Amino acid sequence: MSVFVLGSINLDAVARVDDLPRPGETVAGLSLELFPGGKGANQAVAAARMGAPTRLMGAVGKEDSGPNLKATLAGYGVQVSDVFELKGTPTGQAHVWVGSGGENMIVVTSGANAAVTPQHVAATALEGQRVLLSQLESPAQAIEALFRAGAAKGALRILNAAPALPQGAALFPLTDILILNQTELATYAKLDAEPAKLEEVSRASRKLMSRPDQIVIVTLGAAGVACIRRDEAFLIEGRKVKAIDTTGAGDCFCGALASALAISMDLREAVELANAAAALSVQKSGAAPSMPSKREVEAFLE
Ligand code: ADP
Repeated sequence: MSVFVLGSINLDAVARVDDLPRPGETVAGLSLELFPGGKGANQAVAAARMGAPTRLMGAVGKEDSGPNLKATLAGYGVQVSDVFELKGTPTGQAHVWVGSGGENMIVVTSGANAAVTPQHVAATALEGQRVLLSQLESPAQAIEALFRAGAAKGALRILNAAPALPQGAALFPLTDILILNQTELATYAKLDAEPAKLEEVSRASRKLMSRPDQIVIVTLGAAGVACIRRDEAFLIEGRKVKAIDTTGAGDCFCGALASALAISMDLREAVELANAAAALSVQKSGAAPSMPSKREVEAFLE
């Protein structure tokens, strides 16, 4: 009944400035805010808020913000006993600068996230984990070990192949449900332009399938979500909302979908729920703090 997430945990440091600095220039920051981040952490929070028991596996630094981040994630209902605290290794960080026009520059350092190994995965009991969920901010060898172990136990393996990385494609054959946004789909399917129409999206998605039973789900921003199986493709339209901050919308979708599938919803129902959860998340600032609860999503759908 539960969700097991293998993924990144970062401290996001967001500084606002009037104008982004040029190389060699120093500018005064207007404000600095610190948030929990990383695709793994965001998706685990979304899954936990949607009701399924959720475990997160990852790594943080022991001597810096790591223990605090773990406590924050636990406060959102995520089980963090598989988050390792590593000595002498920094916690992953994203340094985000946002200019007055909303333009940004981001540097991500993976730190402890890069230290998760297949041995860590092998030492973890996966009994009772119905849904496994990962992204590409963790080492591919560790994800491969998790998906191979999960297959032997009959778990459903969901890969959000984000960010788009060449090593991601090697994991597709081990994946039951692949989740991509339009940019990632265009990259993996080697298209010049991002596909938008359902027909184009499904043609590109089918190029990535290596087994007849695989499912590809493509998030289309405000337009909603396309879901492609071997002999079926359908679109769930985006919910009409006023978007304030779309950071983490894709993460919300992935976590909510994993949670819904873990409690045995069928695919279409789960996609509809996750589409609604992600629409709610864009109405609030931040990633983790914007993940809606199951009750909020149910009330929105009534
Ligand atoms: P990513 O954040 O990975 O780029 P998308 O932008 O495709 O992903 O957004 C993920 C999902 O969030 C969408 O499929 C949709 O369900 C929801 N979403 C995103 N933006 C909006 C919006 N403006 N209005 C309603 N729903 C949205």
